[in-house]
Amino acid sequence: MEKILITGGAGYVGSHITLNILKRGLKVIVLDSFVNSSKDVFNNFCKVIDKKILKRNFKIITGDIRNKKLLNDIFEDNAKTECAISSVIHCAGLKSVQTSIINPKEYWDVNVLGTMNLVDIMESYSCKKIIFSSSATVYDPSVGDILDENSRISPINPYGSTKFVVEKFLEDIHKSSKNEWKCINLRYFNPIGADPEGIIGESPLKEKNNIFPLIMDVASKKLEKFTIFGNDWDSSDGTCVRDYIHIDDLAESHIKALEYLNNNTPVFMNLNVGTGEGTSVLELIKKFEETNQISIPFIYGERRKGDFGTVVADNRLAKKVLGWIPKKDLKDMCKDGWNWFSNKNI
Ligand code: NAD
Repeated sequence: MEKILITGGAGYVGSHITLNILKRGLKVIVLDSFVNSSKDVFNNFCKVIDKKILKRNFKIITGDIRNKKLLNDIFEDNAKTECAISSVIHCAGLKSVQTSIINPKEYWDVNVLGTMNLVDIMESYSCKKIIFSSSATVYDPSVGDILDENSRISPINPYGSTKFVVEKFLEDIHKSSKNEWKCINLRYFNPIGADPEGIIGESPLKEKNNIFPLIMDVASKKLEKFTIFGNDWDSSDGTCVRDYIHIDDLAESHIKALEYLNNNTPVFMNLNVGTGEGTSVLELIKKFEETNQISIPFIYGERRKGDFGTVVADNRLAKKVLGWIPKKDLKDMCKDGWNWFSNKNI
């Protein structure tokens, strides 16, 4: 049976991947420092997965990917069992663009050195399959509105630089290993929403940088108004356009990537994970209001430094290679996100 180590498996993306993989009956070990998440995220897993199965197939380890001894212990302990760790889904990392500008060293330390540690230990246990949580921030968004995997790479902040460097590192490892290493970098666009059963959602411990938690704070009246950064962009309503993707579709792309790695000769790939459809911030707010019958008061603020008008994925390669299709629309994202949030918070 497959056993998958999910680093950062308690975070927004990682917890949805963990739930989806456990539902498929595979074994999962989550390694997380809980710097931006809480163990409570797993409390409701038993509502959708049999407790006995959870006990058998699921383990949570608290720790930091920069702790090489801990990583070694995890791989060693599992190598002694009948089921060693066969693949890693590497989500652990720091993800605030703004904080990365203020404290780049911390970002390079966690995102880059942490990954190098992980790969080093994986190699010593002959575990050579990795799916890495990369980001659309690796691209130079000024080259065009729709980005494919060959679009110019030129990150404009330290966060994006760390993602790009890790992608290159994995490519070099793949090449130098005479193709033994199998690596897929999934470049996420803008995941939002929550799992459709309302078990988990997005609840960062640190500052809220993503759009959806802020919209929900306004919806629940924790925040008075939502601020839209700029209304003079080159879009139909003047607000920024992004490629929002349902978190469940994003999680599914990892399952497909895992299947691909298991069934194909050694490979290195970068794949965009988005829907290929652009939605403006104003359109997202309107869809949220219409879907959930809740008003979201907003104001227009200044453009944010370093922001771009439109960032949308060309997702044809991921669809073709992985046989993955994003199935959920904006309404599902708004409905599922609010369903989870309102049950938890109100
Ligand atoms: P998140 O902060 O919710 O999850 C990251 C998890 O990693 C958290 O649980 C955190 O506690 C853990 N972590 C952080 N540093 C760690 C360390 N040193 N050792 C062990 N665990 C550590 O973020 P997310 O939205 O789930 O993002 C997951 C990954 O996807 C990140 O690498 C992020 O850069 C990438 N990504 C996210 C988005 C997005 O919009 N959510 C977009 C593109 C890429």
